[in-house]
Amino acid sequence: MNKEQILNVLKQTDVMQEGHFKLTSGRHSDKYMQCAKLFIDPDVSEMMSGELAKKFSDVDIDLVVGPAIGGIILSYEVARQLKKPNIFAERQNGEMTFRRGFVVDKGLKVLVVEDVVTTGGSVKEVVSLLREQGADVVGVGCIVDRSNGGVDFGVKFEAVLSMEVVSYEEADCPICKTGAPITKPGSRSIFSK
Ligand SMILES: [Zn+2]
Repeated sequence: MNKEQILNVLKQTDVMQEGHFKLTSGRHSDKYMQCAKLFIDPDVSEMMSGELAKKFSDVDIDLVVGPAIGGIILSYEVARQLKKPNIFAERQNGEMTFRRGFVVDKGLKVLVVEDVVTTGGSVKEVVSLLREQGADVVGVGCIVDRSNGGVDFGVKFEAVLSMEVVSYEEADCPICKTGAPITKPGSRSIFSK
């Protein structure tokens, strides 16, 4: 899929909405992203995860790991397509850790996946956790890299879509200056009966 086709899927599934939004940070933006919606439709989930899996088809991988919650379904689906096992990391008392009896053996080659990378904080924590356990992190993959390539994990990093989500302080917002009202992020149902 090319960038335009990927963008179309993200818009059709309401993952990416366009308008004039006030983000949780209080800043204004012309885009609003809700990546969890990628996984509502299993066919879309399969297709987008497949786009990511393809980028690592030439990499020797033993295990796929995603940080909860955004990385759980993605990790499962990428692993399924690469025919590898997967587990997820999750926070306990604020620390990224493996629970539920998940064990990472020393020397395992691990691909870390996450739905959206903005600053890469959660992914970096998972990478550190894996290295502490003696794993060999061979790559990081995400569906949307909102840093537009600005994050460096020190390993092969691939995104299905790389873009920059620009935001503004209200006082400097060019969309406000056009007089456009703030759009409420849509909760339109994408299901059809
Ligand atoms: Zn504005």
